[in-house]
Amino acid sequence: MEYPFGMKSIQGRTIFAGYACQKAFVIRHDKPAFSREKCADEESRRRELVHYREATESVDASLRALMDKGGADEIAILEAQCFMLHDPDFTSRIADLIMKEGHNAPHAVELAAADVIQSLSRLGSEMFRGNISDIQDIASRLIATLLKESLSNIKKLESISLIVADTILPSELMSMDPSLIAGICLDGGGPTSHVAILARAMNIPCVFGLKDASCLVKPGSLVALDAFSATLYIDPDEATAMRIRRRKEANDEELKALAEDAVLPAITLDGVRITLECNIEGLDYVDSSIRNGAEGVGLFRTEFLLMGEGRTYSEDEQVEIYSSIAKSFRKRGKLTIRTYDMGGDKVVKDMSVAEDNPVLGWRAVRFCMDEKNIFRTQLRAILRASACRRIRIMFPMVSGSDELDDVLAFFESVKEECRREGLAFDEDLEVGTMIEVPSAAITSDILAKKVDFFSVGTNDLTQYTIAVDRGNEKISYLYKEYHPAMLRLLKMTADAAHRSGIGLSMCGEMAGNPALIALVIGLGYRQLSMNPASLLSARKLIRSMNFSSAEALAKQALDMTSCRDIEDLLEKFNAETRDKQQG
Ligand code: PEP
Ligand code: MG
Repeated sequence: MEYPFGMKSIQGRTIFAGYACQKAFVIRHDKPAFSREKCADEESRRRELVHYREATESVDASLRALMDKGGADEIAILEAQCFMLHDPDFTSRIADLIMKEGHNAPHAVELAAADVIQSLSRLGSEMFRGNISDIQDIASRLIATLLKESLSNIKKLESISLIVADTILPSELMSMDPSLIAGICLDGGGPTSHVAILARAMNIPCVFGLKDASCLVKPGSLVALDAFSATLYIDPDEATAMRIRRRKEANDEELKALAEDAVLPAITLDGVRITLECNIEGLDYVDSSIRNGAEGVGLFRTEFLLMGEGRTYSEDEQVEIYSSIAKSFRKRGKLTIRTYDMGGDKVVKDMSVAEDNPVLGWRAVRFCMDEKNIFRTQLRAILRASACRRIRIMFPMVSGSDELDDVLAFFESVKEECRREGLAFDEDLEVGTMIEVPSAAITSDILAKKVDFFSVGTNDLTQYTIAVDRGNEKISYLYKEYHPAMLRLLKMTADAAHRSGIGLSMCGEMAGNPALIALVIGLGYRQLSMNPASLLSARKLIRSMNFSSAEALAKQALDMTSCRDIEDLLEKFNAETRDKQQG
């Protein structure tokens, strides 16, 4: 919408409610544009060759400067990149492309890198995955240097700002100081993408689907975000800026008041106790979870450890991390560690490979069962940390009985190894599987006989059941966790768990969504794990609802055939609950 005096507003979709009014930090990931026109004469080819050689020297110097600041792991990566930079095959191919074929320097680098990547990919060995990302990195550095452009502006975030980006990777977000991020506005993005999950976990007001915001907002200009109504104001007038700042203050006060109830149990009006746990991505999320009254960790997304620093952690380092989190929660509940679930949008440097369908590809336990050394190290660390008897383990993306059998057999072999070495661990350690693939939900009666608990991941379960990419804003109108197919799968899974007498929890975003909590509870889920930020409102809601009404709601919803009817039903139920809360 256009306003007088240049103010403009864009409407998106709320990911995490809140307000912010700050200067914009704009991030765009456009590929650097350069001409691919060929050099006409010998003289210009020579000039291009000189430019390329100068760029190589400059990249070499910048890599060495980074080495001076880095630790052992960073130095090893940078040394490998330096090696690539000067690799005779690579450099002579670039020289030939310039001198013999007449390509300009950036295009020659681009073509030579593509050649190297293609031959490495053809070899198909996992060993070369790191080399591929090194060559990509080197090529982008060379091209950026040739074009005198900076590689990325992300690391330059130095003062509190509102991020306005075309897109952002979870690893990019994690490399930033969260205390400097006042809000996040993305052109695209899906509601349960990992950036959305991180924004909620970091308590950062966030709106996705703002179309071309990252083109319209000038870097450093003032922007105001009302993430409750999902509105971004570009160049707000003084009255708008003031209104958003006042609302932010009032909202902060309200949250403070809610936090005072964090010690109260989540118990319905008719006396049914619901356990509220938290989802965490690392040590940084522990304090806020405890402050908000989490009764344990229902999901520790350990792959975020790898994404943060782009390296694997040693067994001892992992034991230290897991033990310290378990210790923080020891008086409240257990720490549920999910083994690495990289893949999809969770790209881990030097581990992830380019795939046509990464979401359906080599990820989670599929990756771990191929990369047994990485998996074994993690399993040993979890086992050793479990000696405190406050830990549970669960496996992600399990698609059925055979896959689960293989994973459990490998886990048994690692246990045996630990026993032989005399390492102490919890012999009664509870083992669970995520239910987040439709085939697992459909065969949940079979899987229930093999594990101690299920944890339902509705983010992926919705994505795979409805065939709707959870990160794609264009089709997010189809992403409905209350789709009749989902309700049937959720009920089927809950029934299978109850019949086998195993534990059941839900850790997808659905569990913390105030509009869906009653439905989830009514479907039979009494253990909910959510973003730390959602705990306060979830507790308030549960304390003001009747379990019997939630059950009746779920029963009615299960009988319905259309998403729209279920939406109306939920709307009506939630409006009545709100009225009761206020009156
Ligand atoms: C899920 O899929 O619901 C889940 C909890 O796992 P993640 O969001 O990490 O994929
Ligand atoms: Mg998942």
